[in-house]
Amino acid sequence: MTKLVRGFRDIFEPQSKNFTQLENCARDVFAVYGFSELRLPTVELKELFVKSTGETTDIVQKEMYAFEDAGHRQLAIRPEGTPGVVRAYLENNFVQNAPVQKFYYIGNMFRAERPQAGRYREFEQIGAEYIGNSAPAADAEVILMLKEIVARFGAKNYSVKINSLGCDKCRPLYRQKLIDFLKQEKDTLCENCQVRLEKNPLRVLDCKIDGPRFIGRVPQFELCPECQAHFDEVQRLLKGKIDFVVDPMLVRGLDYYSRTVFEFQAGDGSQNAIAAGGRYDSLIKNMGGPATPAIGWAMGAERVMLARGESTPEPVKSVYVVSMDKSCNETAFNLMQQLRQAGIRTEGGLFDKNIKGQMKQADRCCAAHAVILGTDELAAGEVTLKNLQTGEQHRVSLEQVENEVKQLV
Ligand code: ATP
Ligand code: MG
Repeated sequence: MTKLVRGFRDIFEPQSKNFTQLENCARDVFAVYGFSELRLPTVELKELFVKSTGETTDIVQKEMYAFEDAGHRQLAIRPEGTPGVVRAYLENNFVQNAPVQKFYYIGNMFRAERPQAGRYREFEQIGAEYIGNSAPAADAEVILMLKEIVARFGAKNYSVKINSLGCDKCRPLYRQKLIDFLKQEKDTLCENCQVRLEKNPLRVLDCKIDGPRFIGRVPQFELCPECQAHFDEVQRLLKGKIDFVVDPMLVRGLDYYSRTVFEFQAGDGSQNAIAAGGRYDSLIKNMGGPATPAIGWAMGAERVMLARGESTPEPVKSVYVVSMDKSCNETAFNLMQQLRQAGIRTEGGLFDKNIKGQMKQADRCCAAHAVILGTDELAAGEVTLKNLQTGEQHRVSLEQVENEVKQLV
């Protein structure tokens, strides 16, 4: 028998219902914030992620599912959504026609990571991108929108961390300061961080192994006056609307962030980020467009569910239609369709089984009531309606059964 690929999952009910529930919460909130849905392709040119997510990121270096197709194109199965959104924004000329855009996406992302709880090779992200607004109000808006989705879904025990990574003016100074600091610790850094130290020192702080060792010891980031003013204003707008802390260790794993970055975290451990995002004011320009500010986030659906605890939704009450004789099958089948048209959850149709087999299935479906049709009933134009909890049963006319069942379920 062919087996499931490691790191991938089959998701049955009731877990699968949690996804729908979270997606519905998100869609409701996106609607009131004026975000529109962008359905992105799953496959893009590999270079899109190399250029945007960044060559030095774990995502591109180690985690990307990349392959060559029959037409010798170098492709990748998307590891994240932002590069696709920006590509679509540029390719469809929003820059010219309507540069301010608010997009959201819901879709599965793929990363060849070591599978563990809360870390899968295929997982769902719900993401938002606010393009064309450099004002701190945009930062505050997307953070509060994220909070609203998480709150609606019912996840409670999480904390919000924010930081500013400055701009192309002030980040290089900090970068150098950090390199000087980290060089003193070079011998104790993990293998990956030895490389990061030169290429992308900020990400040493994000390292799951080395990062925690530097808490409270990292050099202070000195933002330029513009970046400081921006960050102050973001905080002013958030105050009183959301609990957050400024965390100088928060640097995010992607290459394209500038200024505000943030993370929603639940619990501790290396799978604690339920959602993360930040401003990426240089990305669109780096990808060949005109300088355009933008900010966005992505939420890990499975992580938000883990944070809330999987609530099992109340099962919907259903009726089960049983046919006791071949001559009743058609009427029974038509009745099933009639009840479904009336919005009643209806099961049945196992007409090749005897009555015992059908009643057993009704039990397995956790049906609350059975509608039973035998030759007697059919001759009288009636059905037997049986309460499967109490065993009580009575006859109802075929015309009345829909109404009566409606009262019951
Ligand atoms: P992490 O530090 O946990 O590896 P990341 O920095 O790689 O996360 P992002 O690329 O910012 O994560 O993705 C946004 C969100 O997507 C994360 O905060 C997390 O909730 C979720 N996520 C990322 N990778 C996975 C994964 N392999 N399985 C499940 N969820 C994930
Ligand atoms: Mg990661």
